[in-house]
Amino acid sequence: MADVDATHGTGTPPVDALRAAESAGTPAGPPAFDDPPAFGGPPAFDDQNRPSADLVSDCVHCGFCLTTCPTYTLWGEEMDSPRGRIHLIGQGLSGEPLSDSMVGHFDNCLGCMACVTACPSGVQYDRLIEDTRAQVERRHERTGRDRALRAAIFALFPYPRRLRLLRGPLWAYQRSGLQRLVGRAGVLERVAPRLATLESLAPQLRRARSQGAGPKPPRRVAARGDRRAIVGMLTGCVQSAFFPEVNAATVRVLAAEGCEVLIPSGQGCCGALSVHNGRRAEAQRFARKLIATFERTGMDYFVVNAAGCGSSLKEYGELLADDPSYASRAAAFAAKVRDLAELLVELGPVAERHPLQVTAAYHDACHLGHAQGVRAQPRALLRGIPGLEVREIADPEICCGSAGVWNVLNPVPAAELGDRKASAVAATGAALLVTANPGCLMQVAAALRRRGGSIALAHTVQVLDASIRGLPVSALL
Ligand code: SF4
Ligand code: SF4
Repeated sequence: MADVDATHGTGTPPVDALRAAESAGTPAGPPAFDDPPAFGGPPAFDDQNRPSADLVSDCVHCGFCLTTCPTYTLWGEEMDSPRGRIHLIGQGLSGEPLSDSMVGHFDNCLGCMACVTACPSGVQYDRLIEDTRAQVERRHERTGRDRALRAAIFALFPYPRRLRLLRGPLWAYQRSGLQRLVGRAGVLERVAPRLATLESLAPQLRRARSQGAGPKPPRRVAARGDRRAIVGMLTGCVQSAFFPEVNAATVRVLAAEGCEVLIPSGQGCCGALSVHNGRRAEAQRFARKLIATFERTGMDYFVVNAAGCGSSLKEYGELLADDPSYASRAAAFAAKVRDLAELLVELGPVAERHPLQVTAAYHDACHLGHAQGVRAQPRALLRGIPGLEVREIADPEICCGSAGVWNVLNPVPAAELGDRKASAVAATGAALLVTANPGCLMQVAAALRRRGGSIALAHTVQVLDASIRGLPVSALL
């Protein structure tokens, strides 16, 4: 995405900052654990949302989590495993300062939560790493390059309007042949690997939507037939800017299943990206705005079609627990949050499903499978479509390497994880890859393109929508 601006000179500030960060070079591989410990500095953590020593002590060092951890799988480095990171958090709690090495190991974590699923002792690594990251962002001095890169990312991604501004230049870049030229020369990979990553991840835009993300969804869509629920809907940032067709399909499917859908404008970001990267205060601001936008709509449920957003929204109660004017409102809001597949299974189908003769590989997005435990519902929805065969992908617990903006911050290992996932997807022989997160769709598509292959991609709801509308399977392929 970003190199479109570089080429056409539109000069979006975040992209300029990305370029500046890139020009300073890119670190390679995981940081060395052998860095000398930092002595004499202030202790790693202060008392503001300090990682819990009780949660650290829940870890019995059994190592059952190791093989599901993508960074441990890549590098075989103990301190880049869940157990190692918990050990480092323990060191921080006992007064060790935050060394660059320690922060590197925390930064390397994808936040995929595969370790939470794997842990037989129920260690809440998700809570630990979230609190640790917030401390790191407040207390650790990052390099100028790192600060610039992160500032650029967070000035762009949580803002759907800014993302939408990139669509026109991106379309022109893709259509003009420049993308092919740049790709063939391989210049971008050599001089600016992070921009190359962004460029390779950008979805191919179609002409009809080149200058905008299509018509905005209406603020209210009536249920078809008897109304069974009133549902508020998150339009999202990347989802609304680059996958408006997923939102359109979500509205149609919900309405067909008897839901009145409420889509207030100006809802903004849910804060998922911010909270997953330790920017707690920013995430809280986004959360308050979203709650205020929806809480008086009379909705029964708040539905989300992006896995990363859904997992954070369900934790609004914890995010705003210390805010006296929002704590109870946030908890009430979080109780209404449902992933789309979760809600549709909860309600049960009423709309007729028409056959789709297709084989579909289903990819569990980490923030849906590991973080929300939503695995059965999407498969049940897909299996409810006559003619559709669901195929499983090997090693489903291992992340594809997308992980929010982890693939932008860590392009080399992210590409390796993407390549592994692409191989596993290709081995299924399926014609269609289905998942429920825009980041995974972009990451796996880019990896498949690198292999010189391709596969049709769809969000779960697009497959359901095609079936309910009686579209031919070619609409998905
Ligand atoms: S969240 Fe993922 S990357 Fe981080 S420690 Fe757990 S398994 Fe490893
Ligand atoms: S996090 Fe859980 S699975 Fe991993 S070493 Fe600790 S107790 Fe074992």
